[in-house]
Amino acid sequence: MKTMDIRIHRGLEQIGGCITEISTATSRIFIDMGQNLPGVGEVTTADQDWQMVEDLFSQNRKEHEAVFYTHTHEDHIGLFRYVPDDVPQYIGEGAKEVMVAKYESIIEAILKVNKANRFKLKTDDCNEQKVSMEQAETRAPNHNAMLERIKSFKTWGRPKPHSAPRPIEEGDIRVTPFFCSHSAYDCYMLLIEADGKRIWHTGDFREHSYLGKGLMPTIKHYATDIDVLITEGTMLGRTDQCIHEREVSRKMALAMEAFKFVVVLASSTDIERLASIKQAARLAKKDYYISNRFIKKTMSIFTRREASVSKGLFDFHPKFMRPSDGNATMRNRGFVFIASASQLGFVKQLLEGLDPTEVLLIYSAWDGYYKAPEQVKANPFYKQFRDAFNNVVDIHTSGHADRATIAKVITAINPKESIIGIHKDPGTTLKSLDIPEVLKVKVKE
Ligand SMILES: [Zn+2]
Repeated sequence: MKTMDIRIHRGLEQIGGCITEISTATSRIFIDMGQNLPGVGEVTTADQDWQMVEDLFSQNRKEHEAVFYTHTHEDHIGLFRYVPDDVPQYIGEGAKEVMVAKYESIIEAILKVNKANRFKLKTDDCNEQKVSMEQAETRAPNHNAMLERIKSFKTWGRPKPHSAPRPIEEGDIRVTPFFCSHSAYDCYMLLIEADGKRIWHTGDFREHSYLGKGLMPTIKHYATDIDVLITEGTMLGRTDQCIHEREVSRKMALAMEAFKFVVVLASSTDIERLASIKQAARLAKKDYYISNRFIKKTMSIFTRREASVSKGLFDFHPKFMRPSDGNATMRNRGFVFIASASQLGFVKQLLEGLDPTEVLLIYSAWDGYYKAPEQVKANPFYKQFRDAFNNVVDIHTSGHADRATIAKVITAINPKESIIGIHKDPGTTLKSLDIPEVLKVKVKE
């Protein structure tokens, strides 16, 4: 008897906190084990998160079990630490490297704070460390243990161009990862084959970017004969214009030409955005600098893994600054400095004595971080960072597919049985998309 079952534990009526379970009589997999985003869905404590994952793994147990992660954003991977030790966890090889770098950086930052406290030194750039210390007070304070756990993750590699990825088998479930573009590094859609059914899980994805050009060829070639489509719908309720990543870069270059000193607030793990910034700085004839250890690590991972295959697009050679470095050259020639929201103290030091009319902040992150009160309450660093500048310009594009792209993917896949929308705002529906009536009937929400 065929018993394949799909359960969406979280994510139907909220963005983030995604957990999807697919099971057969003998096997089951989870796709993502995400933390709720601040201000989205129910606010949960670390204890509640742990209890929820405990419950998930104590019910519906199967002989073969595994967790597969689509990408490294916290709302997809944040609860990995609570997964039982004997359950294998899988992720892309590059994504794992970024996670290892993240936890190594947190541990280094904590050690630095501990050392500073011991000598009663005052550190200026300690927001990042404060975050780490707060994280350290939660249920699983042992970052070393978390790092070891990440190191134990199993991985899949990305196949060479024009070759098919290999499936991974857990009991009688087969999972095949397909590389896609999103605002994190090394992201995947998944094809799940179980009990004769084919399920396509999109993870988070987009088309309007350098790597996004592979989206429709992948869908058309591999997402064939699909029974159930599970798709993200982040942008269903948003009217944001999704400009292409190339356009982001072009706008940045103009801004970098207009101002001598430019700070760009951007994610350290968004390889495509970092490429846009790098290209823009080159056009504006400015050097680009960093000072954060995590971005130093991610850029070197990206360069080692991607520079040659991307023909130099993802080849990063930033200048690295230490807080003690003098910045005479930077003051004379101008600069582009790539910062994270936790580096306000360092940036203030960097800008000291500069003419504020010559300084620009390019805010290159989601605007909800400074506009939405619940976001600001949960994490005030973005707003504080932005408020510290007289001149600010927003140059950004979403990591998620716009409405037209989601409609195009649904229509191309044309699943036989049903379409499930996850990772979407409450009250939004895939039925509102410009898709054929026959497909609207298949939308299950
Ligand atoms: Zn994401």
